[in-house]
Amino acid sequence: MTHTILIVEDNLLNKKLFEDILKADGYKTVSTDNPFETQELALQHQVSLALMDIQLPEISGLDVIAMFKRNRDLAHIPIIAVTAFAMKGDEEHILSQGASAYMSKPISVAELLKKVREFLKDIPEPQLKDGTNS
Ligand code: MN
Repeated sequence: MTHTILIVEDNLLNKKLFEDILKADGYKTVSTDNPFETQELALQHQVSLALMDIQLPEISGLDVIAMFKRNRDLAHIPIIAVTAFAMKGDEEHILSQGASAYMSKPISVAELLKKVREFLKDIPEPQLKDGTNS
């Protein structure tokens, strides 16, 4: 079973872009713009990695990262934070909140794939729940 990547992004064009880039590289994706359903989706789809927009409706992506880090079933998932409003000090702040990596928009496709591959190379592909692998 190939890796599934969770995309949390409320901008439809960016969401589509991330999906296209990751799918073209052979990954499965699951996307949402709703920060409150991210944990359920991550568990349900056994995601290996998350791409997290920081500017989300209602709550910040930083709050979503904090929720993942507090959940012992999700805390291990590497999270790449993505933000449009990069200012001096943002990267440090975002990494200090639990993100594994940080990228500013507009995203470089090459840089994104490089980071994704780096994180996934040491993570075993998920097994189906019945123990078979396909
Ligand atoms: Mn956003």
